[in-house]
Amino acid sequence: MSSAPLPLSIWARNISPSPTLAVDAKAKAMLAAGEDVCSFAAGEPDFDTPGHIKDGCIAALRAGKTKYAPTPGIEPLRAAVAGSYQTNYGLKVQPAQVVVSPGGKYSCYLAIMATCSPGDEVIIPAPYWVSYPEMVKLAGATPRCVLADDTTGFKLTPAMLAKAITPKTRLLIINSPSNPTGAVYTRAELAALAEVAVQHNLYILSDEMYEHLVYDGARPTCVATLGPEVEARTLIVAGFSKTYSMTGWRLGTLVAPAPISKACAELQSQMSSNATTFAQYGALAALVEKEKTAAALAAMLTAFDRRRKFLHAELNRIPGIKCLLAEGAFYLFPNISSFGLKDADFCARLLEQEKVAAVPGSAFGAEGYLRLSYATSDEIIAKGVARLARFCAGLKP
Ligand SMILES: *Cc1c(COP(=O)(O)O)cnc(C)c1O
Repeated sequence: MSSAPLPLSIWARNISPSPTLAVDAKAKAMLAAGEDVCSFAAGEPDFDTPGHIKDGCIAALRAGKTKYAPTPGIEPLRAAVAGSYQTNYGLKVQPAQVVVSPGGKYSCYLAIMATCSPGDEVIIPAPYWVSYPEMVKLAGATPRCVLADDTTGFKLTPAMLAKAITPKTRLLIINSPSNPTGAVYTRAELAALAEVAVQHNLYILSDEMYEHLVYDGARPTCVATLGPEVEARTLIVAGFSKTYSMTGWRLGTLVAPAPISKACAELQSQMSSNATTFAQYGALAALVEKEKTAAALAAMLTAFDRRRKFLHAELNRIPGIKCLLAEGAFYLFPNISSFGLKDADFCARLLEQEKVAAVPGSAFGAEGYLRLSYATSDEIIAKGVARLARFCAGLKP
């Protein structure tokens, strides 16, 4: 008896695997094989998790916090997250509005699953974080990507947003500070976008994962603070991964009006259950031991800021490259369109000829750019950007 090959589901067949993780994995594999790679592909801080956070986790593990926890998170952590919104933004958040999830990525997925149904449309400003369109598709909804290139500072304008809205639009995704561009919207810019979302009765998913990684005195805006009508429709995603160098811990947060948070927790109860119990105690230490955490964050920010300025200056000295000075996260997004190469080809040749790893802008819905992460050592940045300059010089006709 022969049987026909079993087809995989449309979900499995339609998913595009994360291109950023793929480039990073390739660079790491080349490094492991002894090759002299300069990687700008990292999507995570290059620092270790601060010691007091590890200690909080270790103590919990020793104390036997090794069992299931309540699905939306341990109570003290939910309370501490709620309190941090009051402290940081003056926003009143009840612990019941907080869901602790297995990662900020997972929080985004919960937010989309809780708000979008098949047939709905979701507006995603491009360049976008790679997972948004894929998650929208997994919810059976349709991503509508709207390109905001360097001519608008990689920021969606209210006019661009209004033009993209249809009767099917359900959700607007905002990510400030942005991965991949580092752009930070001002409060006024966000208020103008939120006003359009209110007019058209859209949900807002505000991915504030990089809220604490801002430079030049830029102030992060918590979108839920833009007024009661905005707060009532906003799901804030944030977490610990990028701010406290905790990417491997797999912890994220979601804050929304209570009925929405409850829906997210119910989805999580069937999709994953609680985030790792003892890991949550480490995150609790990050929020409770405020002075140690602030000192660790300040040290990381100083290093990021120095690298950001250096890399930005060096990039703009390369003939043919134009790069805006981003105010947040740990990425720069230079324009390389003047070289007349597809960005994917540019990156492939750059890796092959100069052993420099970068992610093409097209992975983020913006052809003609590179995403360079400066979450790597000053030495690698200096060596890598010199190689990039040599590569670009070789491309000139
Ligand atoms: C890294 C990142 C996340 C998710 O972080 P986790 O590692 O899943 O906590 C979410 N959004 C953006 C924009 C990111 O860059």
